[in-house]
Amino acid sequence: MEYERIIGLETHVELSTNTKIFCGCPIGFGGEPNTRCCPVCTGQPGALPVLNRAVVEYGIKAGLALHCSIHHHSSMDRKNYVYPDLPKSYQISQYEVPLCYDGYLTLGDGTKIRINRIHIEEDAGKLIHTENAVLIDYNRGGVPLIEIVTEPDFRSAEQVREYLERLRLIMKYLDVSDCKMQEGSLRCDVNVSVRPKGSEAFGVRTEIKNVNSFSFIERAIDSEYKRQIALLERGEKIVQQTLRYDEEKRAVEPMRSKEDADDYRFFPEPDIPQIVVSQQEIDAIKASLPELPAEKRTRYGKVWGLSDYESEQLTKYPNIAKCFEQMVEETKEPKLCANVMLTHLFRFLHTEEEKERAEFPLSVQEFSVVVKHISRSALSNQFLKQIVDTMMEQRKPFDALFDLKEFQVDEGETERAVMIVLEQNEKMVADFKNGKEKAIGGLIGQVMRATKGRADAKTVEKLIREQLT
Ligand code: ADP
Ligand code: MG
Ligand code: ZN
Repeated sequence: MEYERIIGLETHVELSTNTKIFCGCPIGFGGEPNTRCCPVCTGQPGALPVLNRAVVEYGIKAGLALHCSIHHHSSMDRKNYVYPDLPKSYQISQYEVPLCYDGYLTLGDGTKIRINRIHIEEDAGKLIHTENAVLIDYNRGGVPLIEIVTEPDFRSAEQVREYLERLRLIMKYLDVSDCKMQEGSLRCDVNVSVRPKGSEAFGVRTEIKNVNSFSFIERAIDSEYKRQIALLERGEKIVQQTLRYDEEKRAVEPMRSKEDADDYRFFPEPDIPQIVVSQQEIDAIKASLPELPAEKRTRYGKVWGLSDYESEQLTKYPNIAKCFEQMVEETKEPKLCANVMLTHLFRFLHTEEEKERAEFPLSVQEFSVVVKHISRSALSNQFLKQIVDTMMEQRKPFDALFDLKEFQVDEGETERAVMIVLEQNEKMVADFKNGKEKAIGGLIGQVMRATKGRADAKTVEKLIREQLT
């Protein structure tokens, strides 16, 4: 039988506010264990939490960017469970009324992944397993999170990957999180079920907890999908449960049987008042949102005439987009700037980190100067690589390294070269005259060779056509 994969995601994103969600402790990855804690975030009896307003603002930003509606009144709830990383034995989260609801994220092919809700909550501490002990670091306890819950709208691991990449990019543009999966600031619970192709009803799902790399997610989905199908084929039932993905074994293993909401004994958090958000506040946040990647891509295509590929590449890193837009601003040559950025400058950014930072040995203005020379036809495109390489290596601007004249051949010289080439290549000339349009390429090549590449190819083509027609 053929089966269909059904996947729903719960994504936790750590917010990059200055302080924790209910106290003034600083946040940030790393740090000496248990040095960024206080009675509130370690849940000492009698300590009172105070909601950090910035967390609500960041949550609303994320919600608006994902086309969600925002509840004017929402509240915090207690989710009770006992685990050493949670000293209070309850997590303060949102259950009944989340901050944001009913949004979506659109994939490249137009598929809409519906977002059921986004709520704010606190992170727990971190367990560190050593050879003979389990240690606990509470620095992460009380770090603000948003949890973004989708409907079960994914049908493949590829869609999940694309969604996460787009989601991460949006969060980066909003500057609400650094979304570093390797540091756990973006992590997912993946819900998987299968159903016979064509069937309407969903199958029983399992939940794979805390997957924190793209490749793990794809492999975890794959292995869980296969496991479920094998069970069904043997006539067995799938048990709803929580699983852990073991990368070494490349297999999932049970963590615990799935608890119901009832097991958490959710109830309203008595120490935190209702969260009230006015329409004016929502409008103000909406007005302050930066241009998001999808809008940028559309603008690059529609207004600047870039290809989908170029737009996608240029918006993949916010700082690259910034550099690129600065160059366009200075030169009014989007197509050329895209070429300079993607074909030439990109070669000098090797790691993801370097691309994130988008720092070059020279300021991008220096490359705008080159683009301007090209757009005024003072310089031919074909020298770009050589010029950029030299500028980067020597860390000097164009004018300090080159004299524009080195790259130029005047029209008279070009014309003489054209005449000589036409005389010496009777066969190609005859071919062209007999309708072999391609022959002109060979002739242009000869002229370029004769001028050591310094002639302008467009001018050469124009001159040849004038001579031969
Ligand atoms: P719970 O309250 O038990 O956590 P939810 O209804 O909130 O359950 O769903 C949690 C996640 O599981 C959501 O991302 C949802 O899309 C996903 N999900 C629900 N049903 C299925 C299913 N049959 N197959 C795959 N994913 C599912
Ligand atoms: Mg859930
Ligand atoms: Zn604290």
